[in-house]
Amino acid sequence: MDIKQRMQELSQAKYSRELAQCGGEQLYHVLLQLSQELAQARPAPAGERKLYYFSAEFLIGKLLSNNLLALGIFDEVSKVLAECGHTLSAVEDVEPEPSLGNGGLGRLAACFLDSIAALGLNGDGVGLNYHYGLFEQRFHRSHQYEQPNPWIEDESWLIPTGVEFEVPFGFGGVKARLLDIAVPGAHSGIANRLHLFDVENPAPAPADGIDFDKSDLPARLTSFLYPDDSDEAGRLLRVYQQYFMVSAGAQLILKELEERGFDPRTISDHVAIQINDTHPSMVIPELVRLLTARGLSMDEAVAQVSRTCAYTNHTILAEALEKWPLTFIEKVAPQLVPIIRELDARAKAAHSDPRVAIIQGGAGREVVHMAHMDIHYGYSVNGVAALHTDILKNSELKPFADIYPAKFNNKTNGVTLRRWLEVCNPQLASLLDECVGTEWRTDPTRLNKLMDYYNDSAVLDRLLEIKAANKRRASDLFIRDQYGIRLDPEAVFDIQVKRLHEYKRQQMNALYVIHKYLEIKAGRIPERPVTVIFGAKAAPAYVMAKNIIHLILCLRRLIENDPQVRPWLHVAMVENYNVTWAERIIPACDISEQISLASKEASGTGNMKFMANGAVTLGTLDGANVEIAELVGPDNIYTFGAGSNYVIELYDQKAKDSSKGYQSRVYYERPAVKPLVDFLLSPVMTELGDEAALKALQNDMINKDWFMALLDVEAYIAARDRAIADYGDRTAWARKMLVNIARSGFFSSDRTIAEYNRDIWNLK
Ligand SMILES: *Cc1c(COP(=O)(O)O)cnc(C)c1O
Repeated sequence: MDIKQRMQELSQAKYSRELAQCGGEQLYHVLLQLSQELAQARPAPAGERKLYYFSAEFLIGKLLSNNLLALGIFDEVSKVLAECGHTLSAVEDVEPEPSLGNGGLGRLAACFLDSIAALGLNGDGVGLNYHYGLFEQRFHRSHQYEQPNPWIEDESWLIPTGVEFEVPFGFGGVKARLLDIAVPGAHSGIANRLHLFDVENPAPAPADGIDFDKSDLPARLTSFLYPDDSDEAGRLLRVYQQYFMVSAGAQLILKELEERGFDPRTISDHVAIQINDTHPSMVIPELVRLLTARGLSMDEAVAQVSRTCAYTNHTILAEALEKWPLTFIEKVAPQLVPIIRELDARAKAAHSDPRVAIIQGGAGREVVHMAHMDIHYGYSVNGVAALHTDILKNSELKPFADIYPAKFNNKTNGVTLRRWLEVCNPQLASLLDECVGTEWRTDPTRLNKLMDYYNDSAVLDRLLEIKAANKRRASDLFIRDQYGIRLDPEAVFDIQVKRLHEYKRQQMNALYVIHKYLEIKAGRIPERPVTVIFGAKAAPAYVMAKNIIHLILCLRRLIENDPQVRPWLHVAMVENYNVTWAERIIPACDISEQISLASKEASGTGNMKFMANGAVTLGTLDGANVEIAELVGPDNIYTFGAGSNYVIELYDQKAKDSSKGYQSRVYYERPAVKPLVDFLLSPVMTELGDEAALKALQNDMINKDWFMALLDVEAYIAARDRAIADYGDRTAWARKMLVNIARSGFFSSDRTIAEYNRDIWNLK
């Protein structure tokens, strides 16, 4: 197809004007339609077995650039736009970012869809079409506020399908409408689908903030991702959402199975279901229900489902492992209760260990342990990084690993380097083309060849120039879109962007900022200026996380207003951190902060994106940081802090005797730590901020500090100061950048997906 000619035709048909006369918004809609036409003209992949990837979230990001790349017309379109005086990135500014996800788990699902399609595998996503996302974050007086985050416009990536299913809730049947988003595969010529279910008459955005009537069903089923669950109505709504997704999804699977001409008795030969964390776990009893309704015996249905479903565990944080009161399921989907009881009875008959039961608790207090159902009735259980899978097998899920050793396997996460390098860092991508050849774009292990340039000063200089250009660009976008906030592109860019959680320890990063501030105030001027960038949303009901945001925003104001400190230390916090901002900021990063308490971050994927863009990791030996450290070697990463075995031992000691194990007050009393923590309630801070919030945070640090920030903070400060000092030797630093980029090919999600297919899905 002549791309330019088709763009001309579309601009005439839609706007009765020449392409060259179109503005950015019109060009966006021309390209949206063009991409949709090309993607929909592509065939679905062949394959005996088809994968359905079930996930509560898909953090897909803007689609225009990525789809143009996957469709193989990125360069051509860029050229046509240039002829009209536009750039693709300016056109893409018009596109709203879909608010269908939240953090790493949702972004992983999006990278996986991209890689499944690129590898030409037959696999679709299944989720919900949230209208207002998690929320849009606003800062006011150094606090976070939440607004709905609408993204659906009249013309969007959503394709109506006309397909509908009836979901049988306890209160009555609700129609689920299916909308699709096409997922074209790079270099594979095929397109898969992201299936998103929606209600017929979705409710409008709440009038103010994100509070709404949680009992307004079905209209509210697809309003928000993870609605506030601090009350019972909110928790029930989550169960309603989950059942809506899995019931409609299971019906879609059976419809497609029958259309392909297969008997439901053979479903496991033709279908694989990946359960991404426990939110979709009710697909197991729902599928048993639907199969028995189609004539399978209970034994047959259970056997088939157990060879169809596979489960990915994403966390060992106890509060994140879902357990629903049986009364909730009784209310939402009463038809599942006898099936779940049957599944539980079979598990209890086979395994007397009460720790592996599905239903736990006495009469009236029974809860359904969703992960336990997945492990008994799935054929694969995987963790998402080597360390994480080891911890699952050896401690968190040990009783299960002892029963089912063959089910447990590791699939270290990955990211699509198409979005996270080719599209977001085009200058680096072309340098890599020059150095290692363009084959790295389809085979990222080729990036290893970059090691040949370890002593090539011209290439090392180019790496530094590209980083400097990306820092200037990020600074320009900050001024433009973040309320005129100025970054200093000459400073070291030290970045921590990810969801806000105490285990990720943004509070420890803030303690470092306080340390630097106090040093400068005491006249000890640092070697070079540092810009500390944060980006993080806090769950609306997570008070401590909001207090940490408050601390960071107060520090930002304090330093902004201090002419003595300002030249040396900057703090910036991205408002409404999302995929769009990640793509802008990550290529500009010098030091990548991956400082979770060892054992708590299952894998992380931000760490991989930063590495591929030439940032050097400052991190604990947690999640995939362990594998990064092995790949790059000790000279090219800064690790610090307690190891996971020691941390797990501290928790065990504390569980046995609360006066044993980690006692934060002991660390608080250390002379290097006390002034940092005390600073939270210093007069300069209480004048700027909310004393109650700062006091609550300080009090928690001194008396609880569940994620042990004070245990590691001294080692952290030392490691970070060492990294910032090393940054001064520009050639040595460029070598570290080069090694990180060269070794990042392992973290391509194409590698991860090839492993899922080889070991779990067998899609052929
Ligand atoms: C990659 C990504 C994440 C996950 O980051 P982690 O550091 O792995 O927690 C979260 N949010 C966005 C927008 C991302 O792109």
